[in-house]
Order: sequence, then structure tokens, then C-alpha cells
Amino acid sequence: MIDVLVIGGGNAALCAALTAREAGASVLLLESAPFEWRGGNSMHTRNLRCMHDAPQDVLTEAYPEEEFWQDLLKVTAGKTDEAMARLVIRESSRCRDWMRRHGVHFQPSLSGTLHLSRTNAFFMGGGKALVNAYYRSAQTLGVRVRYGCTVDRLELAGSRFVAAHAGGERIEARACVVASGGFESNRDWLREAWGRNERGEWPADRFLIRGTRFNQGVLLKDLLAQGADRIGDPTQAHMVAIDARAPLYDGGITTRVDCVSLGIMVNRDGLRFYDEGEDFWPKRYAIWGRLVALQPEQVGHSIIDAKAVGRFMPPVFKGAQADTLQDLAFQLGLPAATLAETVRNYNAACRVGRFDHAVLDDCHTEGLSPPKTHWARPIDTPPFYGYTLRPGVTFTYLGVKVDAQAAVQFGQRPSANLFAAGEVMAGNVLGQGYTAGVGMSIGTAFGRIAGRSAAAAISPTHRSGESLASAA
Ligand SMILES: Cc1cc2nc3c(=O)[nH]c(=O)nc-3n(C[C@H](O)[C@H](O)[C@H](O)COP(=O)(O)OP(=O)(O)OC[C@H]3O[C@@H](n4cnc5c(N)ncnc54)[C@H](O)[C@@H]3O)c2cc1C
Repeated sequence: MIDVLVIGGGNAALCAALTAREAGASVLLLESAPFEWRGGNSMHTRNLRCMHDAPQDVLTEAYPEEEFWQDLLKVTAGKTDEAMARLVIRESSRCRDWMRRHGVHFQPSLSGTLHLSRTNAFFMGGGKALVNAYYRSAQTLGVRVRYGCTVDRLELAGSRFVAAHAGGERIEARACVVASGGFESNRDWLREAWGRNERGEWPADRFLIRGTRFNQGVLLKDLLAQGADRIGDPTQAHMVAIDARAPLYDGGITTRVDCVSLGIMVNRDGLRFYDEGEDFWPKRYAIWGRLVALQPEQVGHSIIDAKAVGRFMPPVFKGAQADTLQDLAFQLGLPAATLAETVRNYNAACRVGRFDHAVLDDCHTEGLSPPKTHWARPIDTPPFYGYTLRPGVTFTYLGVKVDAQAAVQFGQRPSANLFAAGEVMAGNVLGQGYTAGVGMSIGTAFGRIAGRSAAAAISPTHRSGESLASAA
């Protein structure tokens, strides 16, 4: 019998598998996706948020524990668990040497894009290179991997893991780590969670999924049905406003449109609906998907003028371009008169000081509702540009409750041999909101904790006895 069964094939699963193997356990990893699509949402990532007290290779200045914690507290509006959050934060300061040992390389952030050089370590080659490195290392260490293997359900004895069932096959193991992502790819579940709004719309029908199609939430649903403690709200998710032309799945980061804070955002009716300059883009980009989801027809339009060009990462699709706002409104299907009035009112309210997109500058509006609190400059310099945006779901926060050892809880008691890591338990740290790079911090921290705990859950007399040396 295998010692540790890891279910999932993304960052959290790989961190768990590698750690359990390093602790001497035999490990089998089951990945739902075929080989060429392996890696889940993790393959789309670029960086990891890291605590550090002094400049490091690719990280500038310092990002102390307290500041990281305050950032999390702010973005989640207090919907977080301090002990679990601090555990992630501290792990983020010591995981990178381990990551390097498994083949991950880092690079500094590109300057001037997302204000991240101090807080986030970027993966050389992105998340795809990271998961490829981990798979290579796993292979070297003797972790067995099966692709195209979707686990349908878990067989439990009370809270104890007994076996996983996949396509009619029963796979026993002494311990199990579930790292099978959220339920963001399951459109029926999203529809059910979001329900029907007061306008009679089913908002989730217009959502796009930024990442993998394989995170269907099968095991999350199964675990909750079998009595695992639940955490989080099913409508809470990391949701970005992305280009409406993005594919339904796997558009990745290229479909993101990062100019919202440089202009204004209007809805279908040509009206603004939120402060575009509330905070730095990495702390705010993940609220815009939800804000757009609450608008009529779940659509938003980011409008900028020529002054913004060159100040944000160019999106993969070209925006609408026009020399007049009237023409722009026509191209975007917006009511021209309302858009003109919205821009006129906004321009009149702008109090331009010293524009600086790298700090919370003093350019703001006065007497406007909603206000724009930073980077407010009139939209008056043609050509004008517009991007039509839809809610893009990155990952959902509903999950299973775990303890500090990553053990899944049933009736507030931890399972002895069932652990969870990554998106499937991210709700333990993220009740709402997001700050860039923390998804990978959570998956890496809890993946390693879960791997360690799973290996420790097996008494030495029951080990399969597969040594690291013989496997390598
Ligand atoms: C476009 C995009 C960009 C992102 N950028 C960043 C970033 O730069 N930094 C950051 O911190 N976070 C980022 N995130 C979020 C990040 O991807 C997640 O927080 C993190 O990858 C979660 O890791 P995970 O291992 O839990 O999930 P995943 O990487 O999604 O892995 C889940 C795995 O489980 C498998 N699976 C699902 N169901 C089953 C089943 N029943 N049986 C077997 N296998 C199953 C899937 O195939 C998949 O391999 C991004 C996400 C997206 C979509």
C-alpha cells in the first residue's frame, strides 16, 4: 500500500508530494488533467508574496511580518484567521531555498508594472516553469504520478481516510493530501452559488474562468457532504475584471487589463460605480471582477486617454480606439450622451496635484460620487481607449476547515490522516479580498505542512519502506 496519496497536480499538491517523499514516505500523485494540461491554476502564476526583513536576491527593501499581516487584514476586511495567516507569512520567508533546491528559479519583477518588487518574488519562466521543475524533481525522487486520473470520491471511516475512488478503481493509502483546487471551473456550481439577481439575471452565466477547467470542486463537494467542516462563502472568490473576449477557460494573465486605476470604469449605462484609485493595483485588481459581476449584464468598460498609454502592462487584445468620446461610446455600445456627461463630471471634479502612479499620489476628485481618491486626471487627451471587461474567476474561497497541521476538521476535530492544501482550504486565510501572490504563499506553506503531516501520520512500522535512495 502506498504511504501518502496526493490528489491534485498543482503547486500545493506538488509541495505536499515532494515534502512527504523527502520525509521518507512513498507517494502517489493523481492529477485530473492529462500530461499537457498538468499543473492546475499554478501553471498560470508568476509570483509568490514573501515576508523578508532585508533586501534579498530578487526582493527589494524589507517586507516584515507585521506589514504582510496588516495587508492581509486590510484586503480581507478582517475575514481571516490570524494564527493561520501568520503561519503562511512566516513560511513564506523560509520556503524559497527549498523551492530552489527543487529547481525553481527567481527573477526580479519588471519595473513599473505592478508595484511588486518589494513584496513578490517572480518565478523565472512563470508558473509553468515552476510546476515543470517540481514534476521533474518529483520524478527524480521517485514520486509516482498518474495523469488523467480524476478522483470521484473519498472513502472515509469517520474522519479517517481509507481510499480514493477514481473511475471505478479503489486506491488505498495510509494518508492522503487533498490539493484539488476550488470549484471555480464548475459553472453549474457557480450559477447555484450566485443565484439570480434582482434584475432576473444569472450573473455567473457571464463569468469567464481564468485558469484550468479541471477544478470542478468534486472532492470539495464530497468532503463537505461527508461532514468536513466548511469555511468561507461560496460567492467569495478571487475575481478579476478581464477582457470580455477571453476564452472560457485558461486565458491566464494575458487577458487581464491593468489600466483601471489610470482612468475611469463605467457600466453598461455609462455610469461610474466604484473608486478606481482606491489603492495600489495589486491590492485592488481582484475586487473588480466582483464589482463588475454586480453591474447590469455583468459588464464594465475601462476608459482611458492617451496619457495612460505606456503606464500599464499592454493587454493581449487591442482596445477600442477613437478620437472622440462619442465614437468610443459607439464602438463600445455605450449611451454616448451619458458617457460624455460622466466624463465631464469626472473631469470637472479632478484635483490634479503631482501625478505619480508608483505612490498613492495626491491627484483626486472633489465632490464626486463615487470619488476617485488617487491618480485622478481628466480624460481629455485623444485618442481615447476603451476595454470591455467581464468577471474572470481565478479561484473560489469556499473550502474545508483545517488546523495548523493542515488536518481536515470534522466537527472541529482534526482527521488523523487526511490533510488539505491550497485552494481547497484557502478560505482559512482568505475570507474575502486578495493581495497579489498570496495564493502561492498559501499553497506552498500548507502544501509543505500537509506533506510533512501526512508523512508523520504514518507510524514507521507501517511505512512502505521505499527509500529515497532506491527511488532516485
Ligand atoms: C491566471 C492566474 C494567475 C494567477 N497568478 C498568481 C500569482 O502570480 N501568484 C499567486 O500567488 N497566485 C496566482 N494565482 C492563483 C494561484 O493559481 C492559486 O492560488 C494556486 O495555484 C493554487 O494552487 P493549488 O495547487 O491549490 O491549485 P491548482 O494549481 O489549481 O491545482 C489543482 C489541481 O487539482 C487537480 N484536480 C482537481 N480536481 C481533481 C480531482 N477530482 N482528482 C484529481 N485531480 C484533481 C487539477 O487538475 C489541478 O492540477 C493565479 C491564478 C490564475 C488562474
